[in-house]
Amino acid sequence: MAGGRERKRKSSGPLGGGGFGRGGVEKGASSSMAPRRKSTAAAVPVLMVPDTDSLDCDICYLPLKPPIFQCAVGHVVCSVCGDKLKDAGACHVCGVAIAGGYRRCHAMERVVESVHAPCPHAPYGCDAVPAYHAREDHLRACPHAPCRCPGESCGFIGSTTALLGHFAAAHSWPCTTKGRVGETLSISLRDGFNFLLLANHAGDGDRRGDTAGTAPRLLFLLNVAQERLGRAISVFCIHPHVDTTADDTAGGVDEGPLPSMQCSLVFSRYGDGLCRCHYQTSDFEVGRTDLANGLPSRHGCLQFVVPNTVLGGRTPVKARIVIN
Ligand SMILES: [Zn+2]
Ligand SMILES: [Zn+2]
Ligand SMILES: [Zn+2]
Ligand SMILES: [Zn+2]
Repeated sequence: MAGGRERKRKSSGPLGGGGFGRGGVEKGASSSMAPRRKSTAAAVPVLMVPDTDSLDCDICYLPLKPPIFQCAVGHVVCSVCGDKLKDAGACHVCGVAIAGGYRRCHAMERVVESVHAPCPHAPYGCDAVPAYHAREDHLRACPHAPCRCPGESCGFIGSTTALLGHFAAAHSWPCTTKGRVGETLSISLRDGFNFLLLANHAGDGDRRGDTAGTAPRLLFLLNVAQERLGRAISVFCIHPHVDTTADDTAGGVDEGPLPSMQCSLVFSRYGDGLCRCHYQTSDFEVGRTDLANGLPSRHGCLQFVVPNTVLGGRTPVKARIVIN
């Protein structure tokens, strides 16, 4: 590839053995505006890219993605950096004047559009092969990104779908799977871990049975712990995409890039005994955790405590919940 020779950084031949040139990429690149003929070798199944520097912008080091720009000599730059640098009037590498700004580099655009790599979560069931420049975007949303089982001394790691199967098979933890975000559900919570699997968009999954497990769903952990004065219920969303740059990640919890979720929990009891009538409700934000560091700290979440005097020893705790 011509760009590899010209770039200032160490990677002179990062695409491995010239294999990338198969299929007429280099010929096409030399006349970027000409109509492109069909390649004779449409795909190279395995292509080594030992150094991805040549696929990154020299200025910001982020993967180059179309539109890509270049100076008259051929030094490439991403569109964001190109915009920032165009007022300088000269190439950031060679200093050649760039009157009117950098020019479009269609050849490099074709190169970066051609380089794909399997998602690193392939062992967890992801068969996506995104373009190199789209890799980070895919990883931020990959539904197969793994979470850890919250079981003490259990090392199981898997996608939320795999976790569900594991919870039932290895731990026999109860899981409510019929419900949607925004729908009020009656739940029966026993001591320990309880799980709730909610369809995230009405009609997207359950209507068709979602046998492939592809519908957007959210998995929630409802932990019931016996405290001195009553049973404390805490609610988390088990989600692989936890923003580790967030301020408070000590417990592996944050509000993350996805919209925050609100939970309404209601417990009521009417009847005999000391307590004739009891009603308690809380609306609170649901934290998200990939459980990588175990169960989140209980100091960082709301504890919905149902008093022992009200429960009167009756378990499981029956409550109503809605998450949206
Ligand atoms: Zn850049
Ligand atoms: Zn230049
Ligand atoms: Zn993936
Ligand atoms: Zn486990």
